[in-house]
Amino acid sequence: MVQLGDLSWKIPGRIARLEELAYNLWWSWHPEARELFRNLNYVLWRVGGHNPVKQLRETAPERLQQLAADEVFLALYDAVTARFDVEVLAEKTWFEAQYAGMLKGPIAYFSMEFAIHSSLPIYAGGLGILAGDTCKEASDLGVPFVGVGFMYPQGYFRQHISAAGTQEEIYRQIDFDEAPIKRVLTRDGKKLLAKVPLGKSTVSLAAWVVKVGRVEVYLLDTNLPENSVQHRQLSARLYVADPEVRLQQEIVLGMGGVRVLRALGLHPAVWHANEGHTAFMTLERIKEEVEAGLPFREAVQKVRSSTIFTTHTPVPAGQDIFEADLVSGYLSEYSRLLGVDLKECLKLGQMPGSDGRLFNMAALAFRMSEQHYGVSRIHEGVSRRMWHVLWPDVPEDAVPIGHITNGIHAPSWVASEMRELYEKYLGMDWLERHDDPALWEKVMDIPDAELWDARRILRHKLINGVDELAQRAWATNDVEANQLAAVGALLHPEVLTIGFVRRFAEYKRPTLIFRDVERLKRIVRDPFRPVQFVFAGKSHPADFASKELVSRVFGMAMDREFMGRVAFLEDYDMHMAHYLTHGVDVWLNTPRRTNEACGTSGMKAVLNGVLHLSVLDGWWDEGYNGSNGWAIGEVVKPPTNEEEDRADAESMYRILERDVVPLFYMRDRQGIPHGWVRMMKESIRTLAPKFNTRRMMREYIECSLTPVCRAAKR
Ligand SMILES: *Cc1c(COP(=O)(O)O)cnc(C)c1O
Repeated sequence: MVQLGDLSWKIPGRIARLEELAYNLWWSWHPEARELFRNLNYVLWRVGGHNPVKQLRETAPERLQQLAADEVFLALYDAVTARFDVEVLAEKTWFEAQYAGMLKGPIAYFSMEFAIHSSLPIYAGGLGILAGDTCKEASDLGVPFVGVGFMYPQGYFRQHISAAGTQEEIYRQIDFDEAPIKRVLTRDGKKLLAKVPLGKSTVSLAAWVVKVGRVEVYLLDTNLPENSVQHRQLSARLYVADPEVRLQQEIVLGMGGVRVLRALGLHPAVWHANEGHTAFMTLERIKEEVEAGLPFREAVQKVRSSTIFTTHTPVPAGQDIFEADLVSGYLSEYSRLLGVDLKECLKLGQMPGSDGRLFNMAALAFRMSEQHYGVSRIHEGVSRRMWHVLWPDVPEDAVPIGHITNGIHAPSWVASEMRELYEKYLGMDWLERHDDPALWEKVMDIPDAELWDARRILRHKLINGVDELAQRAWATNDVEANQLAAVGALLHPEVLTIGFVRRFAEYKRPTLIFRDVERLKRIVRDPFRPVQFVFAGKSHPADFASKELVSRVFGMAMDREFMGRVAFLEDYDMHMAHYLTHGVDVWLNTPRRTNEACGTSGMKAVLNGVLHLSVLDGWWDEGYNGSNGWAIGEVVKPPTNEEEDRADAESMYRILERDVVPLFYMRDRQGIPHGWVRMMKESIRTLAPKFNTRRMMREYIECSLTPVCRAAKR
């Protein structure tokens, strides 16, 4: 049970369901629903971070009365609620039609982070975006699905660039009253509680629920008066650096998450571990089976057969690994409950080749799941190589790891300008069929002038938005006079705009484009065919090498000779991701080969007609066809990092000089670059139908419910 009706006292009966709509993030991927809340108070909408809960709380009762008598508002309200009823409440769904009765319970999806909307900042990057997009797609398809994660009161940090040009981390407390979450209560109205043993003590857990269309995501919370100060802090922040706190978080998420689902009376049929962080959920379920009378081995088998694991990490350094000695302290009690000795228990997560000294969460997840997937074709191969040690008796190409390439939730990431074009030329029902390649053939029917017009509008929106940010930073003394160009105040809305926008990590090589500064200056400063670069992205607070990269890029943006042609936007988040993936002309991606497991931001860009310029890694290796964007360098990885950098930088400069810049500026008398638009169409036509969560979710469902697909995927 969930508490309801906090705000109902002031909302007139005629529009009473505004509260239900505000507390369901379904609104975030429905433009008419967004418009409804924007209409309450436009200024508040903008300054309050597009947050309907805040809108409803702060809108005066008189204003609501007025709207309840406004014909135009009421027509919109009725349309939105009708749509909501069909999409969220109706029983007829794709899943029901295809798989009625095949799942005996929901799919439980565990993830350390969920990026559902920027008003709920409990995510750091791509892993969270994938989790959020997956929930939205599950709702759209009617897949029975519950999420389990954490409600971090401080979320992830906000990034500020100091006067010295370095990243500073600011942690702000999320105001729970303004967040689209509700406390989970028991049937008799009390706070729902679960307990988890943590070493020698016990932690109490409560939960919050966020609604994502049909899907509910339960967010755990340890900040309770019944817990010690230290335990109250456990769920304060995402990705803490201290290994012991991290381990405790993962125990709480995995084991505690199962207990919270049980307290809710839920019996999932499939358990999905999104990355190794969540793997302790398998131990809790084994414990349940043992307590119910199954011998340990059989319990393990039963748990394995209902568990899916998706690995996201292509490099050993990215794995979640703990000292086995540290883990022992927390598993000794559990091993007793499992009826095995501690050694046996530790073996489940033993890192191969570590003589039992290290406990690896991904190893645990692989051993405890029957189906395991990488997130792109390349990543499948990399994972087989990396994890061959777990299946030493089979050849590498028979290691049972498949792949399901990630996707993006199209309705969430498509710009309204593009949505309108797709409605006009692909049909009003395009979203219902957006994973059908035949549908996208109709992109060829869009007149060049209209498609180009949409592109220009989106670029103007981006540059105007950047201007506004720069002005706000100036007005609030957050930026020095000499930094105004660096934060984007001098960008121009008609200049070819290239975005490098992603988490700053060494392997993504954010500074590769600066390898030959003079050559880059010649490119961006061309008086007739100028180019501008927009950078944005956070570094992990403990990753000092990557923080250096932020400073280096910011320093370049400060260089007078770049004349405002290079900008760094601080505090990249989901909201900014929308502007950027819609507004730039080219999306630049330069990971070291095999390090980008999949990547999804480029998929958001191509859906909006942005062209992709990328190393052939992650999803781009599956997407690139020679004429739907550009590939940097060769497929084969050069023998050393230095050679890879040299070759890729050279390739990138050449593509910019010979292909990208001339194609963009080759205009007809109306100013339309037909060659560029042709490439946009080819990009949308070939990539949009495949790189979305609809295709991805269907593959997951097929694979978890039909053995044939499962066999093929291996
Ligand atoms: C899409 C997205 C990501 C993932 O980007 P990659 O380029 O795949 O790493 C990260 N952060 C935000 C805010 C996003 O919107």
